[in-house]
Amino acid sequence: MSEEEAIDVFVALRYTETGGEPYCPKCGCQATYRVNRKIKNRRTGEVTRTSRKYTCVDCTHQFSPTSGTIFHGRKLEHRDILFGIALWINGAKGKAALELARQMDINVKSAFVIEQKLREVIGSIQHSVKLKGEVEGDATYVGGYVKPSNFKKHRRDRRRTANLSGKKQAITVLRERNGRTRAFVKTEKQTAQMMRDIVEAGSTLFFDESKAFDGLDALFDVQRINHDGNDVKNYGEAAYARDGVSTNWAESAHSRIKRSQMGVHHHIAGDYLEGYADEMTWREDMRRLSNGEQFLQLVTAGLHHPRSKRMVGKWQRKKEAA
Ligand SMILES: [Zn+2]
Repeated sequence: MSEEEAIDVFVALRYTETGGEPYCPKCGCQATYRVNRKIKNRRTGEVTRTSRKYTCVDCTHQFSPTSGTIFHGRKLEHRDILFGIALWINGAKGKAALELARQMDINVKSAFVIEQKLREVIGSIQHSVKLKGEVEGDATYVGGYVKPSNFKKHRRDRRRTANLSGKKQAITVLRERNGRTRAFVKTEKQTAQMMRDIVEAGSTLFFDESKAFDGLDALFDVQRINHDGNDVKNYGEAAYARDGVSTNWAESAHSRIKRSQMGVHHHIAGDYLEGYADEMTWREDMRRLSNGEQFLQLVTAGLHHPRSKRMVGKWQRKKEAA
């Protein structure tokens, strides 16, 4: 694919509303003219590539197909971005920035920026739906590993709160059976408090015996399964599934997050955890779509997503805009 053809793909997917006809992002005017500028190598004066921009006839605003989208401020060529996205989609357990950088022959920081921008787009795809029907919820924990001491006499009980590092983070997953998944870097209790915004009232919710999910019965039909057998009186005999009550869907979403951590990223805690969690639930939800469909969905959504506040100018240490 030539760079020219790649730009055509960007134009076609960016302006889907007008059938691929560019329009001004400022005034919406469809009368534009194309500006091709030759980009020269500063030292040799040799023309290395041409850039494509559009000028609005009405307000003379100049823009490119990536202006104001997630790819705003791109430095890679269009075809490299498309190539990178295709490679990134291929990883069932995710793809490490270092691996992507090697395959694309670019700097690891550039690869990291592409990945983070894609995760941002995916976050808005995943959280644009309100869940309904049969929805399972459960939390898992990542990060905050405490290494046991060498000598046995120095070892501490690593299950006790006092001996934790304080870096352990909860991911609470809510998942429709045979449907969509949403992950939150929040505890079960915090998630339960915003349940009415996440799940439509009247849905059936499935949880384990965790006390955090108590008190949702007014809005939802809440079903409980007693995993550990802590409270046989209220939640019945200990089991993973009983009479169709289980949280197995939620737990297979956990599984993919964990496999991604073990097999690809090794360390996914900290600031960027939400992005990784969204990425893995998206991969889980879209697993039946072909690579081509996933690619199209992601590029189109990216071109309709506002520019990234976090990643534009990241390595120039620009402060994150509020
Ligand atoms: Zn205009």
